[in-house]
Amino acid sequence: MIAERNVVLHSWCVQADWDAPTIVGGRGAHFFDADGRAYLDMSSLAECSNLGHQHPAVVQAIREQAERLCFVTNAWGAAPRAELAQLLLEKSGFEGGRVYFTLGGADANEHAVKFARQASGLPDGMIVTRERSYHGASYAAMAWSGDARTSGRSEPFGSIKVPAPYAYRCPFGSATVEDCATRAVAAVAQALDDNAGRCAAVLMEAAAGTNGIVAPDNYWPALREVTRDHGVWLIADEVMSAFGRCGEWFAWQRYGEAGRPDLMTLAKGLTGAHLPLGAVVLGAHIAQRLEHEMLYTGLTYCGHPLACAAGLAAVRAYADEELIERSRRLGAHMFDALRAMQARVPGIGDVRGGAGLFAVIELVKHRATREPLAPWPQAPPVLQRLVARARDAGVSFATRGNLIILAPPLVIDENDLADALVLLERLLRELENP
Ligand code: PLP
Repeated sequence: MIAERNVVLHSWCVQADWDAPTIVGGRGAHFFDADGRAYLDMSSLAECSNLGHQHPAVVQAIREQAERLCFVTNAWGAAPRAELAQLLLEKSGFEGGRVYFTLGGADANEHAVKFARQASGLPDGMIVTRERSYHGASYAAMAWSGDARTSGRSEPFGSIKVPAPYAYRCPFGSATVEDCATRAVAAVAQALDDNAGRCAAVLMEAAAGTNGIVAPDNYWPALREVTRDHGVWLIADEVMSAFGRCGEWFAWQRYGEAGRPDLMTLAKGLTGAHLPLGAVVLGAHIAQRLEHEMLYTGLTYCGHPLACAAGLAAVRAYADEELIERSRRLGAHMFDALRAMQARVPGIGDVRGGAGLFAVIELVKHRATREPLAPWPQAPPVLQRLVARARDAGVSFATRGNLIILAPPLVIDENDLADALVLLERLLRELENP
């Protein structure tokens, strides 16, 4: 077999350090390597395989579409493209709006910003985003991200950064979670006041984040109010949080109409990662503003029929198999189990999430001092060892700095989930008593 490490340039790693098994198949919440070993996937790979691996209905839809028609450009219509757009507008209650398809999350965010700027009449309008956030790795998305790994590595692209509602280490020194969120929203209001007439949009996640910040419940509705009051569009980055990950179709729906953004971006779970696809969903009021203006943008593969057919089958699978509700139910169990684990394992400083199958464990040296295991965003070697031991035991965990990110496929078997948490606790204890 070809040694992949010698020929492929891999993401987010030192090339010389990359050394991973080759995955050759998958089924449900498991994937299999070339030696026939099975791994329980506790992160849906990149928090994207929400439907599990090789979902039969999605694979079948791709097969059928491939036999019928693989590709047509945007100059022509394509049935799966129209059907998927219609379904997304229905599920999100954005009827009268429109959907722009992209290839993934970063270009969805870039396009959402383009549309927000055009609709606001501010072609160079500033974009308010959070410190400790991630919106993609293309140059502009990287600039809007508050990511310690890449900060300062691109032009600012009109970005204004505000502190995140990181209640465990509140940047405002708040004593309560709610107060931290209130002050973080006030910081957005302040940024909009300081730049009055110059801001086109606020781009943020309503919930889950790769950077491990889960905003307190009072954050998003208050942010919505502030952006509306300031006449600035709110873009919800739902790339990771949508399609059940946070217990709703789209995480903002947890707050009902009080959480509705003006635009939202999607990717990952949109096809359950069976094919690359992203989307910007525009509210009717935004779409209306663009209706008679030239749209100066395009992607060759925008709304690729194969990807849209996969998206259509994926969205139907979430509905038919009641996976959004399942995620909410299993997510609550997982969160309770993690909180109970926290009471037994002193190295667990904080557990966040719980709305759906998404949780973040933050590890510390001492719970009382909250001293991190390693300065953010460094990966503590002990945690890397934990991941390696888990892999040897047939479970794949994702980590980020001091964080363990739990985001299993929504189809995960309840017993498998419980077993993985037992393994995690054992490994965390070994980490404390080597
Ligand atoms: N936005 C969020 C919240 C993400 O988690 C990610 C990817 O992890 C992105 C955007 C970028 O998506 P992509 O990697 O498909 O470009």
